[in-house]
Amino acid sequence: MCFMADSNSKSGVSLIAPQDAGSACWSCGEMRAAHFCNACGKVQPPVPVDYFTFFGLSRKLNLDTALLEREFYELSRKLHPDLNARANQQEQQWSLEQSSLLNDAYRTLKDPIKRTEYLLHLEGVELEEQSKAATEKARASGEIKKQVVPPDLLEEVFELNMQLEELRAQKKLGEDDPALLEEIGKQKLELESKFESLLEELKKYWNEWDRLIDSGSEEGLRKVRDQMVDLLNRRSYIRNLVRDVNEVLEN
Ligand SMILES: [Zn+2]
Repeated sequence: MCFMADSNSKSGVSLIAPQDAGSACWSCGEMRAAHFCNACGKVQPPVPVDYFTFFGLSRKLNLDTALLEREFYELSRKLHPDLNARANQQEQQWSLEQSSLLNDAYRTLKDPIKRTEYLLHLEGVELEEQSKAATEKARASGEIKKQVVPPDLLEEVFELNMQLEELRAQKKLGEDDPALLEEIGKQKLELESKFESLLEELKKYWNEWDRLIDSGSEEGLRKVRDQMVDLLNRRSYIRNLVRDVNEVLEN
């Protein structure tokens, strides 16, 4: 992949046709954007563009979400199938498809974690599936789901698992050990605060990524990409761990 250095590029939202989506309007033959023709305003058939391109954005991670939201509402209004009642059936179908694409793109880009995961996906990275659904599916099928313990958490995880084991055993016997509960509660709070702090750490990588996109250092980009992958894996590991703790505490 080649990243062009472009000192004029801004990550502002714009309706100007992104190059990737550029082709002729089906109606007037002028240039079209990802969703509308810039010349005649006719809704266009959806083209396979990524979510950044759909909003006319470059692949940067720092994003003005207020601006994105305004753009989203403006496009929502324009793409609403009911407002295109005079359009023919084909155009209405396109409105519907474009609206659904718009919703997916907005939901993904407005969320800092989803945005990062999506960008990594575009960069060819498939993150380890650690979602709740995947974990439950694995449990239901009796398959043991292995997750690599992040090295900086090894000790804590080991200890916490021992305590959870002890708590499960106590609960089976109908016993109650307030000290153990307090210790587990304390560790849970620490994990939650670590979880929160990862977002701040991630934002440092965003800045690095956005800077490197402009300067075009592929080696640097690869490095930041791997750091973000590592961070997201750590994050979902902690999330799952907290979920396990909650399960034991609630049962
Ligand atoms: Zn047109």
